[in-house]
Amino acid sequence: MAILPIITAPDPRLKKVCKPVETVDPETRRLMEDMLETMYAAPGIGLAAPQVGVLRRIIVVDVSKEDGQRQPHMMANPELIRVSDEDTSYEEGCLSLPEHYAEVVRPAEIKLRYIDKENEIREMAADGVLATCIQHEMDHLEGILFVDHISALKRNMILRRLLKSKRADKPMAKYATV
Ligand code: ZN
Repeated sequence: MAILPIITAPDPRLKKVCKPVETVDPETRRLMEDMLETMYAAPGIGLAAPQVGVLRRIIVVDVSKEDGQRQPHMMANPELIRVSDEDTSYEEGCLSLPEHYAEVVRPAEIKLRYIDKENEIREMAADGVLATCIQHEMDHLEGILFVDHISALKRNMILRRLLKSKRADKPMAKYATV
C-alpha cells in the first residue's frame, strides 16, 4: 500500500465529474486500499478518488473512533437510492480544504447502492456522521465541495485564504525539491 498526495483547492481536478468504474479489478482494489491508507494517515474519515487526482467514482470512508475497531467502507459507483425528508446539520471539513470548517445541511438518513472491493453490488443504510461523510464524499465525484453548500460570501473567503496559502507555499516547495 502507498500514501498518495492529496490535492488541495483551488484545483480544476476537484471540479470535475468523475467517470464510473466498470469493474473493481485488482488495480482498482489497490487504489481503494491506497486511498484508505492515505485517509488514515491524513488523518481523515473519508476520501474520494479526485482528491488524489483520479477522476473515477471511488470513495473510502471510516467514521469509527480511533481507539475502536476500524470499520472501513470502500465503494465504487455509489448512488443514493433513498434520502430522508429530515435534514441534519454537521460542521464539515475536507482534506482538500485544510483547516476550514462550515455547517452543512444534508439529509439525515440515506440508503445507497455501490460496488464493493470484491466487485459485488451492495446496499447499505447510514445515518449520523456516516451519512454526512458518505454524502460529502459522493459530492466530490460530481465536482462539488462542501463550500458549494454554504453562502458565496463564506465560500469565497475560504477559497481566497487557500489560494493565498498555496502561493505562500511555492518558494518552500522549490527549496524542498532541490
Ligand atoms: Zn472532502
